[in-house]
Amino acid sequence: MRSHRVAVIPGDGIGLEVIEAGKKVLAALANKSGDFQFEFEDFDWSSQRYIEKGEYIPKGGLEKLSKFDAIYFGAVGSQDVPDHVSLWELRLAICQGFDQYANVRPARVLPGVNSRLKGADEIDWVIVRENSEGEYSGNGGRVHQGLPDEVGTEVSVFTRKGIERIHRFAFELAQSRPRKKLTLVTKSNAQRHGMVLWDEVFFEVAKDFPDVDIDRELVDAVTTRMVLKPETIDVIVATNLHADILSDLAAALSGSLGIAPTANLNPEGDFPSMFEPIHGSAFDIAGKGIANPVGSFWTAAMLLEHLGENVAAERLMAAIERLTASGLQTRDLGGTATTEDVTQAICSDIEAQ
Ligand code: NAD
Ligand code: MN
Repeated sequence: MRSHRVAVIPGDGIGLEVIEAGKKVLAALANKSGDFQFEFEDFDWSSQRYIEKGEYIPKGGLEKLSKFDAIYFGAVGSQDVPDHVSLWELRLAICQGFDQYANVRPARVLPGVNSRLKGADEIDWVIVRENSEGEYSGNGGRVHQGLPDEVGTEVSVFTRKGIERIHRFAFELAQSRPRKKLTLVTKSNAQRHGMVLWDEVFFEVAKDFPDVDIDRELVDAVTTRMVLKPETIDVIVATNLHADILSDLAAALSGSLGIAPTANLNPEGDFPSMFEPIHGSAFDIAGKGIANPVGSFWTAAMLLEHLGENVAAERLMAAIERLTASGLQTRDLGGTATTEDVTQAICSDIEAQ
């Protein structure tokens, strides 16, 4: 029997609820298959831990995590810790520590889900986000702190190597899809250094992929295209900040933030990759048992695919689609179902197939 070691980091808020639900679904799939099993190990790395012990990740924690086949992550963020602390101390520490430079975010309207967007059923996108540098490289500083002349800088860092590898990844992904289209997104009219380098390297890499249909768009313009002509987009490649924003828009256009998944990949496999729903810890609904767990299920399907369990991944996606089509939906989608209702329904469906 194949065995997969998965590190589980539920984190904060609804992260705990949706990851618990996702683990049940993964266990149901392993049970159904009989050919593989999971060895889950839970990590309590959270804002609660930070408040009690002064750290999110204990000493030697990343070293320990590096031995796993994959990481299943919930969300981090607490009203008692500044967001820039929680993000950098936990999520970015893992993404950057394990060089998970390719962040992949699919967006599609699942059956039975109502999008407010006209023509939303045309959405079938993958947003590829550079996940290791750019605007989130952590460079910058503050001088004259607290004084009237205070200055804060936020310095984006783009390296040729970092740009080339994400473009190459995006081209390969676009090439593997039926439409083979890739849209380059930057802001190289107003930002004339790192952004121009992004564009140049893109067109250099494009020469190796003559069968991929390419175009380019400025980041502000692409938001209108996502809303007005969703069918013209297939794969987008964009920087850390730009793709962060575009993928939240993509999630909302395809129905709810509670549905969308993401993979933080270290494509070379030197370190484990991390899989998470794109939503945060959602203070407003945490602890109420009403969070939509579909984002963490779709995330689990991406995790299965990464582990080479393609049959189970497909079985799970089909089960997710039957679930959303059935109308059993949480409040964010206009329904009244609880996290537990939805989780039980999908587990029974997987067992019954
Ligand atoms: P959020 O994603 O937590 O919530 C935004 C809105 O969407 C809220 O109204 C919430 O109730 C709703 N929502 C999100 N996920 C849902 C789900 N599964 N089911 C139903 N409704 C859902 O974003 P926010 O409010 O901007 O941030 C809250 C905290 O989460 C902050 O501390 C933020 O820094 C953190 N955050 C973390 C991550 C991450 O860990 N990757 C991502 C985004 C935000
Ligand atoms: Mn985001």
